[in-house]
Amino acid sequence: MPPGNARMILKGIGVSPGVAIGKAFRVDRDRVSLVYYYLPSPAHTEKEKTRFDAAVDKAEADLKAIKSKIAGEFPEHSFILDTHIYMLRDRMLYNETIRLIEEQGINAEWALRQAVENAQLIFAKIEDEYIRSRISDVDYVAERVLENLTGQNRRSVAGIKERVIIVAQDLSPADTLQLQVEKTLGFVTDMGGKTSHTAIITRSLDIPAVVGLENVYQAVRSGELIVVDGYAGKVIIDPDEELLNYYYERQYQLENYRKEVARCAELPAETEDGYTIKIQANIELLEEVVAVIDNGAEGVGLYRTEYLYLNMDTPPDEETLFWDYREVAEIIYPEMVTIRTLDLGADKIPSRMREWGETNPALGLRSIRLCLQEDELFRTQLRAILRVSGITKNVRIMFPMISGLGELHAAKDILNQVKQSLIQESIEVDPDLQVGIMIEVPAAVAVADLLANEVDFFSIGTNDLVQYALAIDRVNENVAHLYEPLHPAILRMVKQAADAGRFAGIPVSLCGELAAEPLYAPILLGFELDSLSMNPMAVPRVKKIIRNANLEESKEHLKEVLQLSTASKVNEYLCNLAWRRFREDFELFEDEMGRLPVVNGNPQ
Ligand code: PEP
Ligand code: MG
Repeated sequence: MPPGNARMILKGIGVSPGVAIGKAFRVDRDRVSLVYYYLPSPAHTEKEKTRFDAAVDKAEADLKAIKSKIAGEFPEHSFILDTHIYMLRDRMLYNETIRLIEEQGINAEWALRQAVENAQLIFAKIEDEYIRSRISDVDYVAERVLENLTGQNRRSVAGIKERVIIVAQDLSPADTLQLQVEKTLGFVTDMGGKTSHTAIITRSLDIPAVVGLENVYQAVRSGELIVVDGYAGKVIIDPDEELLNYYYERQYQLENYRKEVARCAELPAETEDGYTIKIQANIELLEEVVAVIDNGAEGVGLYRTEYLYLNMDTPPDEETLFWDYREVAEIIYPEMVTIRTLDLGADKIPSRMREWGETNPALGLRSIRLCLQEDELFRTQLRAILRVSGITKNVRIMFPMISGLGELHAAKDILNQVKQSLIQESIEVDPDLQVGIMIEVPAAVAVADLLANEVDFFSIGTNDLVQYALAIDRVNENVAHLYEPLHPAILRMVKQAADAGRFAGIPVSLCGELAAEPLYAPILLGFELDSLSMNPMAVPRVKKIIRNANLEESKEHLKEVLQLSTASKVNEYLCNLAWRRFREDFELFEDEMGRLPVVNGNPQ
């Protein structure tokens, strides 16, 4: 526990690392207050629709103006504003509002609020956290239109005069992009989660931020001294001198550590004894390639291609997919991009599949099984990937959820047919195209030796492997405490798959969340994998730890860890190893250090 006291300490979600110390500045973003009324007669309907249209047009013009203003400084964020511009006329928002004005004879403000509430009900049922959190974008867009309809403008971020910490209930991405970076020390909000666009922007602006604090806006007064600890996800309101000095010291040390980590981003992950492991990135969207490059990832080890399908009534066509994959491949070139074929189902469910109502979707018709059944869907995607492979020559194909040779043969047969038909159409396909599989089903581990003879690479997906091996639904909060990536069964399975791959002479990667965990890096090294693939932000720190590690030592540690009988013993072993051997990489991170067994006031 840090020394000293404060008027209040709030815990939220740290979404952008760093420590900021400064005066709070509350940004008033209360909702627009509305009046609700029935239109006096049907003759007023047309007028009301025109009024609504004018408000939408103005919102579009405003967003376009912000977009062109930020284009020079933050080109990578233009897409968020494009999404908002597009949303203004989305069916759910625009058509629904018009329908409500026409059918219920209510004013535009009321109709739009109601359309947003209907959308909220739909989004609330979506399992995928990322997609679910996109409801906040619908909300931001609607608020903008409502402001135009009512003539109220509640934004006041532009006029900030001194360097402050922004305190808000919520702030839209467009507002956040307008913050003057040089005047913003930190950023805290009541709402939001790790995947909100606002959080993503604060990360790329390098502003320490904590969101999801629930009542920080109420609790803080403008001008009050506050500390934002973006690592620990804490906001300290009005600290005493002792606590303040602690945070000044912490800020200084973290800044130095951050600089060191950043320096490692561009260096290879080479151990002290000369073993090099590739550190790659997992991405879900084309827009993330910027983060891949900025963080020094050596290519994309996993491109999850589901996201283009999630919000659509019909699957994207071949051209849409082709241009998306091509852009990723060209930006990442000359490094490789591993494009995983559709892994729809379970936690990644498009709207049309939601109606199937499977009782056990994680074990149902999903992923490669779905692709083998929905031939057209699969072939369209394969054509797009193969066409890109012929142009850029840096693409690999990866099949998810393969459980045995039968499925692998079926998938490869279709791939070969698609390849042949492209060749007949005189469309070039990369002749050296590599085809690999995810190892994420326990059955695949058991027959990894057989599979290894028929593919060009393995990528071990521990997220699902843990789910299926331990029979723990990965999205069920009731069993989240039983989801143990360090369970001896998982470690043995990873070893079996890695050994099978090595024996067959094919590269083996690991792309589950495990790979991004700094604490696990030293033993993952012991598996002698060829690459680790992780969220781009995690790359530099994992590289730093590996550069301080030693392969031979890691192999010894892994041997010992594989003898341990429970996940908590493995965790304890890793914590002790981190503290003894990699102290400078862990001592500043309270949440990670919290897991260490403490003896005599010090983690041992
Ligand atoms: C995995 O299962 O480990 C994996 C990387 O894939 P996803 O998280 O997309 O299921
Ligand atoms: Mg998976």
